[in-house]
Amino acid sequence: PKLSYDLYKEIKPPKPSTRPLRIALLTREPDNYSSKRLLEAARARGHVIDAINTSRCYMKIEARAPEVHYDGKTLPFYDAVIPRIGASMTSYGMAVLRQFQGTGAWCLNPPEAIGASRDKLLAHQLLSQAGIAMPVTAFAHSPKDTKDLVGLAGSGPVVLKLLESTQGRGVVLAETKKAAESLVDAFRGLDANFLVQEFVKEAAGADVRCLVIGGRVVAAMKRQAQDGEFRSNLHRGGKATAITLSPAEKRTAVAAAKRLGLNIAGVDILQSNKGPVVLEVNSSPGLEGIEAATDTDVAGKVIRLIEQRTRTLGRKR
Ligand code: ADP
Repeated sequence: PKLSYDLYKEIKPPKPSTRPLRIALLTREPDNYSSKRLLEAARARGHVIDAINTSRCYMKIEARAPEVHYDGKTLPFYDAVIPRIGASMTSYGMAVLRQFQGTGAWCLNPPEAIGASRDKLLAHQLLSQAGIAMPVTAFAHSPKDTKDLVGLAGSGPVVLKLLESTQGRGVVLAETKKAAESLVDAFRGLDANFLVQEFVKEAAGADVRCLVIGGRVVAAMKRQAQDGEFRSNLHRGGKATAITLSPAEKRTAVAAAKRLGLNIAGVDILQSNKGPVVLEVNSSPGLEGIEAATDTDVAGKVIRLIEQRTRTLGRKR
């Protein structure tokens, strides 16, 4: 975005130097692993970083001079904001982030990109427009023709997912068409949005998490589900190991993050017989599992990207 600092009299434009940056970490969980690592990595590189509770931010909105307030004070200018906004805070968190953007801060992930990644339907549509492979997926709210809907996802077993699901909770496998149809009928009764997706059997209970930062895959791990389970979520007992990606897998992960406009993304792919297919793109990927499995300083790479991007902005000003 083009920044016009003359609009903000009270804010001094940062100089395009290598002075320490002022960074805000937007999170409601400053003590979790990912937050601690980001705070630590920024401080280790000489920057000033504040953990800011997204839900406690309030905003003054008027023409020209957006302000973010916190505990009775106006927040100072931040060069960059690292949003780590939980699913329950998406809408308010995006508004807070837009407000920071209005003050001239560079957002690691822009608000609209976070919104797109959280809206599974929109995310699938954007990926499909960009020609990024995914399992064949049918979306519905309350279809009348259950049989036809189930048929859209192919002739084999299908996976049904409640769109509000996280950590694999609302994800079920229907081995037969009959089972799928009764599940769809049950979901319809819940008044929920859901999808029916071709089951990628050959993935054999594993998926691959690719961590993309600034258009590059910086770490990748394979998560293998427990015996008798097809969901590989670590929360469900999946085990993670480092993996070297094929060029096609790398390209897919980078393209998915790019299409959604995310500078940092956790792209989940399945290794299918037809090549890599994207399951999901996460805009606030956890750092603990991937740093441990791959022995990579992901937090440090996040801070380095922020340095590059804010300092380029500075030079252009
Ligand atoms: P959540 O967002 O709740 O984690 P996912 O869509 O990521 O839901 O599904 C959870 C897990 O289930 C995935 O990590 C993957 O291991 C497995 N899975 C999901 N969809 C499919 C599919 N179409 N075919 C095979 N396995 C799948």
